Amino acid sequence: MSNAQYILEATYLVASILFVLGLKGLSHPDSARRGMIMAACGMAAAVLGTLFHPEIVSYTWILIGLVIGSAIGIPIAMVPMTAMPQRTALSHAFGALAASMVGVAEYIIHGANMGPIKMGALGFEVMLGSLTTTGSLIAAAKLQELMRGTPIQFKGQHLVNLLLALSMAGCYIGWLTHPGMAVLFYGMIACALIFGVLLVVPIGAADMPVVMSLLNSYAGLSSAATGFVLSNNVLIIAGTLDGFSGFILSILMCRAMNRSMANVLFGGFGAVVGTDTGATGTMREVSLDDVAVQLAYANQVVFVPGYGMATAQAQHAVRELGNILEERGVGVKYAIHPVAGRMPGHMNVLLAEANVPYSSLYEMEQINPELPSTDVAVVIGANDVVNPDARDNPQSPIAGMPIIEVDRAKSVVVLKRGKGKGFSGLENPLFFKPVTGMLYGDAKSSLTSLVQAVQKV
Ligand code: NAP
Repeated sequence: MSNAQYILEATYLVASILFVLGLKGLSHPDSARRGMIMAACGMAAAVLGTLFHPEIVSYTWILIGLVIGSAIGIPIAMVPMTAMPQRTALSHAFGALAASMVGVAEYIIHGANMGPIKMGALGFEVMLGSLTTTGSLIAAAKLQELMRGTPIQFKGQHLVNLLLALSMAGCYIGWLTHPGMAVLFYGMIACALIFGVLLVVPIGAADMPVVMSLLNSYAGLSSAATGFVLSNNVLIIAGTLDGFSGFILSILMCRAMNRSMANVLFGGFGAVVGTDTGATGTMREVSLDDVAVQLAYANQVVFVPGYGMATAQAQHAVRELGNILEERGVGVKYAIHPVAGRMPGHMNVLLAEANVPYSSLYEMEQINPELPSTDVAVVIGANDVVNPDARDNPQSPIAGMPIIEVDRAKSVVVLKRGKGKGFSGLENPLFFKPVTGMLYGDAKSSLTSLVQAVQKV
């Protein structure tokens, strides 16, 4: 082994260890920041190590790629937190595109002389990479509202999907047995690109998180296959970690959103079924001073943050209100729904940024039994994740989705700007219940005013 190869293998080993430690760190909010830094350092080590690859003959194209990649990457890294899901979808699309292009290049260079195992991995890489590229682009367009978020369906969709999947598999198997037939290879890519689109267009808004993490998993598995094709250990390790962690996250999110894994695996999932019965009645508006008195004299207050807290950037104001209440002897807890906001862990990240201690955060299963004895549940820009129709109305499109059962608290205060609906576009009967009071306004300004009002009580 040459010196350059030693450096390469050593940096790959360091990178792999950093990836594993990074992922471990991400499993807990306290260590998540450190985990993120470790994973980023791992990626930097892998990139630097690759520069010592003995097969590199010139750095010119690498430099050009670096400049183009940075020109695209830096601006999209600066998007606001609220646009993070679509940014993540774009990253998946680029990662999967890169893996597919490597696969195509390898086929062009080596043609049919690769041996069956490498060919199998290469076909898998290109197939998964291609469908992830278009699927992720559609997911990004839906999340950015460049396309309509509701499911797009047509007659015979499942049959078309099935035929496409069969054609893709047929091209793959045909190409493995006749590696010289490039038409089968490119036919497989074409089917995969179309399949990626058809896989995501019928998916409804409420299922989008599952799609995202599943596409993340596909991108990871495609990178792992690339690693086999290139005999690159770090790609195999990082791709496998990414693939399986994404897959596990998909399973967990399926549970949180009450979607079955079979639904997810066979695609075409997320079409909203059932009907929104459209709750009606009067929403009872409450005044700032009333809410301040309720909070100040409560024994226990539970804050339930949602997407509106993220858009309002109200996390610091929530923390401030929580502090003031705690100083008055009120017990304060923060309830986190697994799909509140627009990405997994969205609320945890924001509350951690505001230094809310991890010990004050309660998962849905932990907080629900406590809600009947809670004096005030304060819903901060959350809607779907507290919609009791999911529990009570079997006809609801979100029937069966576990919710934070704020309606079982002694009193509920909902902070939102007006009568806007949540991500699923459904009406929320919680807002019409006698136990609920609506405090209209931007969440940040309402909370800031509440801080002052509670201090005066
Ligand atoms: P949500 O159902 O989207 O509701 C957010 C509410 O916040 C809206 O009703 C809106 O009402 C209010 N709001 C918006 N801006 C506000 C502001 N500045 N101040 C105060 N209120 C504001 O949110 P959620 O309950 O967190 O539910 C999340 C939804 O997103 C679920 O359907 C989930 O499936 C989906 N989703 C989740 C993820 C994930 O991974 N977490 C990813 C994609 C999609 P007004 O307009 O009246 O203010």
